[in-house]
Amino acid sequence: MQKKKLVFILSLLGIVVSSILFFDKFFPTTQLKHIANSDRYIIWSLTIIFLIYYLKLESNPQLVPLTISNEKDGVKNDNKLNISFKDVAGLEEIKEELEETIGFINNSDKYMKMGAKIPKGILFYGPPGTGKTLLAKAVAGETNSTFLYASGSEFVEKYVGVGAKRVRSLFEKAKKESPSIIFIDEIDAIGAKRNLDSNNEKDQTLNQLLVEMDGFNTSDTVVIIGATNRLDLLDEALLRPGRFDRHIFIGNPNMKAREKILEVHTKNKPLQKEISISEIANKTHGLSGAELANIANEAAIIAVRKNKSKIDKEDFNQAIERVLAGLEVKNPSVLLKEKKTVAIHESGHALVSKILKTDMIQKISIIPRGQALGYVLKFPEEERYLLTKRELIYKITGLLAGRAAEQVIFNEITTGAKDDLTKATQIAQEMVCSYGMSDFGNISIDEYYIRNSFDEIREEIKKITDSCFENALKIIEENKIILFHIADILMEKESITNEELDKIFKEYESKMDYAT
Ligand code: ATP
Repeated sequence: MQKKKLVFILSLLGIVVSSILFFDKFFPTTQLKHIANSDRYIIWSLTIIFLIYYLKLESNPQLVPLTISNEKDGVKNDNKLNISFKDVAGLEEIKEELEETIGFINNSDKYMKMGAKIPKGILFYGPPGTGKTLLAKAVAGETNSTFLYASGSEFVEKYVGVGAKRVRSLFEKAKKESPSIIFIDEIDAIGAKRNLDSNNEKDQTLNQLLVEMDGFNTSDTVVIIGATNRLDLLDEALLRPGRFDRHIFIGNPNMKAREKILEVHTKNKPLQKEISISEIANKTHGLSGAELANIANEAAIIAVRKNKSKIDKEDFNQAIERVLAGLEVKNPSVLLKEKKTVAIHESGHALVSKILKTDMIQKISIIPRGQALGYVLKFPEEERYLLTKRELIYKITGLLAGRAAEQVIFNEITTGAKDDLTKATQIAQEMVCSYGMSDFGNISIDEYYIRNSFDEIREEIKKITDSCFENALKIIEENKIILFHIADILMEKESITNEELDKIFKEYESKMDYAT
């Protein structure tokens, strides 16, 4: 039981017993007559001691961040990790970059004799789930260093000075247990830019972090690794040389890296021979390492649920669908009329995407998953790093095609296009503001311009989405027969695979209107 809780219970018990004894002193009862005065004084004194101790514990918040513990995954008894670079798949160039730091930690004497300083701070930034924490742990594992994990949000407290004290305790612990790696996840929670309406507690915490980073001796083999999803939010002072001066971007894995990550996470799982890891990697374009690990785990769970001895292709397909589209809703109560609308909406997406060849369609479904009543699973046919203006326009057209199909068939639009509209507007906004792909010409528009020319920018975005919507309406109008064919099969079977869709398109190939 937690110490504070125990002291609280003892204090409470003491108060109850002391109160009974106190009243008994003035209104004596026969049952308590034999209790001597000296015993009563002892009980009263003990109660007061427990109460004072409890109040002291209450007013003294925990100084070391909660997550600095020996109980994290893979941590051996003494905070040493058994995770190495072998556990981190892909990210070869980043591992190479970190070799230098590892060399410093492992041969610190050699470097110090030469007067070289150990790199103090490394900052990992990039989208969530891409292996930032895993890499930091691997650096600790490779150097047999103590791994101290803290999350930025743990330092944010309402009492002024508590965060700063926690930073101090963290660094003291790191120095005591050196060589050590301090890993501060979500560092933006304490390291965000300071501004005029500053928060005293947050500023003090950040200042303390800066002081500690400047202050520790070069003979202390302590490396601080910070991680954030938003590098742009961090205070300049934190990024300057001598502090977090090495910035390493860790992005979502490419095809080869996805294959390697999937290999790592299926290493201990019995797979059926026919399973092709590269095929799964191909279907999971844009997913993070954490999502890939999740897919491998989900596939194993699905196989166990079906009492199989090995994981097969179907288990992986279901796991991908589960991760990409959410949990399947059991016994959904969707009205027939709504089901028809969803079938037409999803058929619209599939028809236009297929005609414009935007992405490879894997599956269309009207089985509700998560919050969606239907979905089209698709992935790019090849790994792309650059997109042309035309491809972006086609992407928006595909996204708006669900609503366009509703408009053409029912002459009515529904709320089902909410997500599509968000994504389409986002792409159009990037075309206007970031890629110089609008009538504004080859310029980049920053926050300041957006605020000051909001109406013109919105008009430009609308011009793009309106013309894409018009095109989607035209394609659907001219290919209505195929749309109805896809929707009919969806109503009957609830889902269509890529192969089935190809078959439908082959049937109509000669009569099809490539209305682009
Ligand atoms: P966040 O920004 O949300 O804190 P993160 O970038 O720190 O995320 P991790 O916690 O390191 O992500 O990754 C989560 C899990 O994803 C890991 O425990 C691991 O199972 C898996 N993973 C991610 N990237 C890789 C990789 N390159 N190799 C192997 N596994 C990976």
